[in-house]
Parts: sequence; structure tokens; C-alpha cells
Amino acid sequence: ESRACAQLVVDVLGAIKRVIDENVDELGRLDAIAGDGDHGIGMQRGATAALAAARKTEQADAGAGATLAAAGDAWADRAGGTSGALWGLALRAVADSIGDENAPDAATVSAGISAAADAIARVGKAELGDKTMLDALIPFAEALASRVVAGSSLTAAWRQAAEVATTAAQASADLIPRIGRARPHVEKSLGTPDPGAVSLALAATAVAVLLED
Ligand code: ADP
Ligand code: MG
Ligand code: MG
Repeated sequence: ESRACAQLVVDVLGAIKRVIDENVDELGRLDAIAGDGDHGIGMQRGATAALAAARKTEQADAGAGATLAAAGDAWADRAGGTSGALWGLALRAVADSIGDENAPDAATVSAGISAAADAIARVGKAELGDKTMLDALIPFAEALASRVVAGSSLTAAWRQAAEVATTAAQASADLIPRIGRARPHVEKSLGTPDPGAVSLALAATAVAVLLED
């Protein structure tokens, strides 16, 4: 069961890499408005390295948690940039939560996503409303948790949470940046969504589609 679950981890990372590849220019364009323009390329480097590391680890008969942890380490190592370090941290938080022993249930996955949001907030010293990836991730984590507690399947809960994340990422356009490179560029940033929130929502939506297949 854990082997099948490790394969699902590889498939999830493959879906994330694909959607980042498709949006690499758009993410770079968004980051160029009030940042340094490297968010697309950084996410692409991170997701590519993470998928390769996950494949290699899964082929060595590792469980889901070890596969995801290797992916997180590779992402942080290779992406560069603030978002790369934080994505690596997030994947490792989910990996710690799901572990290697059993196929994780919806509550365990949801707890892992919440732990990822907490880890990013702690290390990045950002909170909701600061105009970062957390403005998509925290609403995503909260929607996922509330749906799971209400008894939804992981697939149904994830789909609804991904829609919440997408709406929240777009709504970040109206926020004033309070942290990161966009902070000195309030005027430029206003009206544009945070690139890290947009990429987070894209990744969540791609995983929703994968789970539904
Ligand atoms: P860099 O800013 O180092 O060039 P990226 O362009 O890859 O890194 O990523 C920028 C994104 O990282 C931002 O849009 C924001 O979502 C996220 N980010 C930046 N700083 C923080 C932080 N302190 N906490 C959470 N997220 C952050
Ligand atoms: Mg950047
Ligand atoms: Mg940069």
C-alpha cells in the first residue's frame, strides 16, 4: 500500500511540474511587475528537480513520506529564491505528516497541508494578508480541513479547496505587499496577484485534476 502511495507522490509531482512548465512565462511576467522576474524559472527548476528525486527514491522502494521528503530537499536545493526554500520546507512538512507506514487518510493529508502552512509562516515570518503564497495556502489548508472534518473524500475536499485557493490567489491582487521583494513596490504590486500565491493555486488545481482521474 505504501508503494502505491509513493507512486502517487511521483504522479502528484509530475502534475505540478507539468502545470509549472505550462505557466513558466506567465509566472515570470507576474514576478517581474514588483519582483525580480524569476518566479517561473525558479518554480520550474524546483519542480523538475523534485520530480527527478522522487522518481529515484520511489524506484529504490521507499515509502510515500521518504519519496516526498527527497523531493522537498531537491526542490529547496535546486530552485533558488525565497519560494524554492519555502516549497522545499512545505513538501518536507507534508512528508513528515504522512510518513512511510500506511496509506495516509484524508485527515493525515489535511494535517500535513496545515503543517506546511505553519512551517512557511514560521520560517518566512509572514502572515495572512502580507501578499505571499500564504494568501493562497492558508485558505487552501483551512478549506481542506473543514471539508475533511465534514466527511468529504480527499478528492472532493481537495477539489473544493483548490477552488478556494484559486479565488484567494486572484484576490491577492488587492493586497499591499508587506514582505519579500514586492514590499518596496506597493504601487506596482497593487492590481497584480502575488506570483507565489498564483503558482500555489495552479499546483493545487493540477493535483485536484490528478486525484479526480
Ligand atoms: P525571490 O523573491 O527570491 O525571487 P521567487 O520569485 O521564486 O523568489 O518567489 C517569490 C514569491 O515567494 C512571492 O511571490 C511570495 O509568494 C513568496 N514569498 C517571498 N517571501 C516570502 C515570505 N517571507 N513568506 C512567504 N512567502 C514568501
Ligand atoms: Mg523572484
Ligand atoms: Mg529571485
